[in-house]
Amino acid sequence: MKMDEKGLPERTRLETGNEINLRGTTICPGIGIGQVRVLDREFIVPRNEILASQVQSEQKSYSEAVKTVSDHLHEHIEEAHAGSSLSSSLILKSHQAMLTDQQFHKAVLSRISTEYKNAAWALEVEGEQIIAELEASRSPYLMSRAEDIRDLVASIVDALSPRPETYKKALRQNGESEVLISDNLFPSSVMEARRFHSVAFATESAALSSHAAILLKSFGIPAIGGVRGLRESAVDGDQVIVDAVNSVVIIRPEPDTVKKYIELKRQFEIPEELPASPPIGGRTKDGANVRLMANINNPDQIQLVLRNRLEGVGLLRTEFLVLQADTIPTEEEQYEIYRHVFTAVGRRVVIRTFDIGGDKQIANLHYCTGQNPALGVRGVRRHLLRYLEELRTQLRAILRAAVGCQVDILLPMVTTVDDIRQVKHISEDIKEELREEGNPFSDEVRLGAMIEVPAAAIGISEILAEVDFVSVGTNDLLQYFVAADRDNEAVLGYEDFENKAFLWLLGFIIERAAELGQEKNVTICGEGASHPELVPLLLSLGFRSLSITPTSAQSVRNVIKQTDLRV
Ligand code: PEP
Ligand code: MG
Repeated sequence: MKMDEKGLPERTRLETGNEINLRGTTICPGIGIGQVRVLDREFIVPRNEILASQVQSEQKSYSEAVKTVSDHLHEHIEEAHAGSSLSSSLILKSHQAMLTDQQFHKAVLSRISTEYKNAAWALEVEGEQIIAELEASRSPYLMSRAEDIRDLVASIVDALSPRPETYKKALRQNGESEVLISDNLFPSSVMEARRFHSVAFATESAALSSHAAILLKSFGIPAIGGVRGLRESAVDGDQVIVDAVNSVVIIRPEPDTVKKYIELKRQFEIPEELPASPPIGGRTKDGANVRLMANINNPDQIQLVLRNRLEGVGLLRTEFLVLQADTIPTEEEQYEIYRHVFTAVGRRVVIRTFDIGGDKQIANLHYCTGQNPALGVRGVRRHLLRYLEELRTQLRAILRAAVGCQVDILLPMVTTVDDIRQVKHISEDIKEELREEGNPFSDEVRLGAMIEVPAAAIGISEILAEVDFVSVGTNDLLQYFVAADRDNEAVLGYEDFENKAFLWLLGFIIERAAELGQEKNVTICGEGASHPELVPLLLSLGFRSLSITPTSAQSVRNVIKQTDLRV
C-alpha cells in the first residue's frame, strides 16, 4: 500500500479537504467527532496443501490458536462483568459456546487430515459452509449470527498467523478521540471501541440486529450502520463526524461543519455528574406537558435512563434475556434480573413479556409455522397458543420482583380483547398460587397492551376497556399497516411514517382514547417517537406520552420546547 508523507495510507479516490456526507441507519444515537481508525483486519487466508507428515502439527497449531482466542474472550468477559454489563457478558459467553463447539473443531481437524488443507484454509472452508447456511435462512437473528462466525474465524486465522502477536497488537492501539470504522459489525470490534473509549463507530454492515449492534447500544457508543461507500471514502487519520442523531457520517468535514457539530454535541450531551438529578418531562412553548420515558433493551442502559433524566422506563424489552443466552431463564434468574432493574431505575418500569417470533427469532424457541413468521406465532400469541408455562413463569417472576416498586406489564402483539382476557385470567390464577405459597408479590402491577396490529388499533376502545394502558408500537404497526416487512430493505420505501393513512390511524387511536377520557393512558413507544422531526407531528395528533431511546432525550426535549400547539 502506498503511504503519504505522514506515513498514512494514500487516498486513491478522493481529494483531501472534500467533505463527504454518507447516509446510514442509526444504531445508537449520539454524536462523535474524532479521527478515523479503520478496523478491518485485512487477513489473507493462506491456502496450502500439506503433506501427510504435517497433519499433526497443523492440527496442533489449530488447537493452540483456538485456545489463544478463547483466552482473549475470557478477558473480554471479565471486563464486561466488571462494568456490570450483564448482557455483554452473555453475548461473549455465547461466543465462548461457539469456541467450545467440539463438533465444529472436529470438522476442521478432519478437513486437515482428509483434505490435506492447512489449518487456516480448513477453518475458512468450514466457517463459510456454516455462514452460507445461516445467511440462507430468512431469520434476521440467524443471519446476524453469521457475523459472529466471521468474527471468530477472523480471530482464529489471525492467531494462526506466523506472527500471532498481531491478534494482541490490534487490541492495544491507542484510541484517543478515535472513531472506529469497519466493513463488518463484529462484537470484538465493539469491545475494542469500548476498551479504548472510541467516541463513535460506523460500519458498512447492515446487520442491525446483530450481537455487535446490541453491544453498541448497551455501551451507548454513537453508531451508524449500513453506510455504503464508507470504506472507500475514509482512511486512517481522516477527521470524521458520526452524527448518529440524523444518521449521517461526515468525512473530512469543512471547518464550519466541525464548529456546528461541536455546538450540537454540547447541546446533545448530558454531563456525567447528573445521575441523581430528578427526572424531567417535556413542555411545549404553549405549556403542554409531555411525559418522557425510556425504551431499554437490557440492564446496561439503566444509567442512560437516569443520566438523561427520563421519567421511567416505558418499554423494557425482555427478549435480551433469551436473545443472548438462547434459553429461557428460570423463574429465579428472571426474578433477580427484574428486581435489579426495578430497584436500580427507582421509577416506573413498563416491562414487556417476551416478544419472541416474527423478526425476533431464536433457534429452538420461537415455534415457527407457515412461510411468514411476522404473521405467525409471535409475542403473546406464542405464549397463549404454545408456551403457557413460559408466560406463567415470567409473570410469577415479575409479580414477585415488583414488590415495593412501580411496575406495569405490557403484552406484545395483542390482536383481540380475548388475548388480554386470557392473560388476565392466568395472572389472577398466579396471584392465587403465590398467596397460597405465602410468596410475597405486588398486587398493584397494572396490565397494558401493545398496539401494533391494525385490528388492535381500530379496536382501541374495546382494548382500553380491558387494560389499564396501551403503548403504540409504531415499528410493527406501520409494518403490518403497509404490509412491508420492517427488515426487508427492498420495501423500506413503504415504511413511511408520514404516510397520510398511517397518520390517520394514529389520530384515530388517540381520539378514541380521548373520548373515553383515557388519553393519559396512551404512550407511543415505536422508534418514531425518538425522531425529533416526527415529535411535533405526534404532539399535534394529541399524544402526550413518549417512550424513547434514552440518548435521544435531549434532542426530543429541545424540539418539544420549540413546538407551539396553538399554531
Ligand atoms: C414496536 O413495534 O414499535 C415496538 C416498540 O416493539 P419492537 O420494536 O420491540 O417490536
Ligand atoms: Mg413491536
